[in-house]
Amino acid sequence: MPVTPYHFGPSGLLGYIFRKWIDLPVFVLANVVIDVEVLLVNMINTGRPIHRLSHTFLFGTVVGAAWGLVAYLGLPGLKWLMKVAKIPYQTNGLKIILSGILGVWFHVLIDGIYHYDVKPFWPMRKNPLFNLLSHSQVKWICVICFVILAVLYILSLRTKNRRKTTS
Ligand SMILES: [Zn+2]
Repeated sequence: MPVTPYHFGPSGLLGYIFRKWIDLPVFVLANVVIDVEVLLVNMINTGRPIHRLSHTFLFGTVVGAAWGLVAYLGLPGLKWLMKVAKIPYQTNGLKIILSGILGVWFHVLIDGIYHYDVKPFWPMRKNPLFNLLSHSQVKWICVICFVILAVLYILSLRTKNRRKTTS
């Protein structure tokens, strides 16, 4: 995806709805972690392709698990973040590692549809996901997911406030 924040819509919505099983911040921030690869390739100027090993399901699994491990070490920071966002947060080591991997896989899936140079099934060189949806369809889905997420989040804050005032 040209802009990493586009990923926040679909991954935020999925992570928010399934937050009982998915660690929301780890799942969403995996998008930032994986796109560090694109940033590095651009900075070092090694040319094309800009999407490399991290943007594959196979090596992405390693990246996701490593991110999960780092996130586990930074757990107090994540707890603080969720407290500020007023989202109930319960997690554990396994949930964090799995969410890191799932977050990377979900990113690879979307990027695989969007970018011709992503090789999701590396070492297979073909990308069967590419163009399953058009660029504008992918972007619209991302934006719509973000809007639904925002509505759900605002509604949950309102019900929480109401509960506080009535109790
Ligand atoms: Zn990417």
